Amino acid sequence: MDKNATEKLYDKDAYAREFTARLESCEPEGDGFLITLDRTLFFPESGGQTADRGVILVPADGKLSKSIDRNEIHASDAQADYSSVSVTDVQIEGETIYHRVPAGIAVGTEICGRIDWDHRFDNMQQHSAEHIFSGTVHRLYGYDNVGFHLSDNTVTMDFSGVLEEDQIRNVESIVNRAIYENVEITVSYPSKDECDRTDFRCKKEIEGQIRLVTIPGYDVCACCAPHVHRTGEIGILKVQSFQRYKGGVRIHIICGSRALRLFRAENDLMTKLSMDFSLPFEEIGGRIDELKEEIYNLKGRLREADLKLSEIKRSSIPVDQENVVLIEEDMDAATMRKSVNELTELHPGYCGIFAGNDEAGYRFIIGIKNGDAREALKALQKICSAKGGGSPQMVQGSATDLTETNLKDLWKSFD
Ligand SMILES: [Zn+2]
Repeated sequence: MDKNATEKLYDKDAYAREFTARLESCEPEGDGFLITLDRTLFFPESGGQTADRGVILVPADGKLSKSIDRNEIHASDAQADYSSVSVTDVQIEGETIYHRVPAGIAVGTEICGRIDWDHRFDNMQQHSAEHIFSGTVHRLYGYDNVGFHLSDNTVTMDFSGVLEEDQIRNVESIVNRAIYENVEITVSYPSKDECDRTDFRCKKEIEGQIRLVTIPGYDVCACCAPHVHRTGEIGILKVQSFQRYKGGVRIHIICGSRALRLFRAENDLMTKLSMDFSLPFEEIGGRIDELKEEIYNLKGRLREADLKLSEIKRSSIPVDQENVVLIEEDMDAATMRKSVNELTELHPGYCGIFAGNDEAGYRFIIGIKNGDAREALKALQKICSAKGGGSPQMVQGSATDLTETNLKDLWKSFD
């Protein structure tokens, strides 16, 4: 055994939240410190799972009040005499676990550690569910989970072969059945001989003592992470989405309290939509499709109307006017370009179209038949914040701090 090995308290009891330990080392690293302890409950980032977080409580005099029996100590015993430092990351190298903390702590200090239990239990729910899912995929379809990622926001699994939607739904149902059955999850440390005789997932990757996590009827897998005691604690597993990935499939799942939070958010949104549309949930999708088509048709009609209006405006400009500027509330870029081209055929000066208003700013296109439109852009940049560029024939861009009055005055100054 490595003499720097950290005793992994989370291996023995996945449900312990608080522990005491002796600080073995403290080294500055980056803008904080990396500390090692003789033992820890903080699960390090490993196997695709993010690290535990929490706090370390440091007694003012470097000694815990009841250091005789370390298992009986709780930080609350002497809360006032403790200072608290947060553990922001936990990494493992070999058998040593490093905790990242913002402040240095003296070697030899007896500390009390407290993990963020909500965060840990949430990870346990996701991870145990992943085992049942991967074990079921392996048993039914023969594919391996070749990439597992468990972060605060997402849980993904990458399988070595393609699964179709009905197969994924089938596995989802089986995992939920395993949850209803409330199967006990056990951890064992088999001997080398027992390992050779047992069939389990993730057999190759592990050196040294194997830790087997068994979910009877569903999965046996080598794993070092904390798991829930019984499958019922997972609550629910829902497949959120899936896509083809590297010759296989990537599946996003959500379990436990995360699934409840998502269901709440989605239900709130559906309830709001249902009230807005005065429709039951199941008819909202169809109504949105209708609205999308309606908007598409209206945009087409609006574009035609814009063009007609713009034509009318252009035809009302005296033909002998050299420099022309038109201000439109809204116009798409293609129509603006077409209109500027038409104007430059009739008027020899700077022909500009500005779409927008004083508050929101303007998008613009300026053209000139014989001359340099970039000169007009330079003049514009003197009176407002305008970004843009282009060729001598045409420039385009956007402007803020521009008022309709200033714009019209600028064009008058070109005459
Ligand atoms: Zn695992």
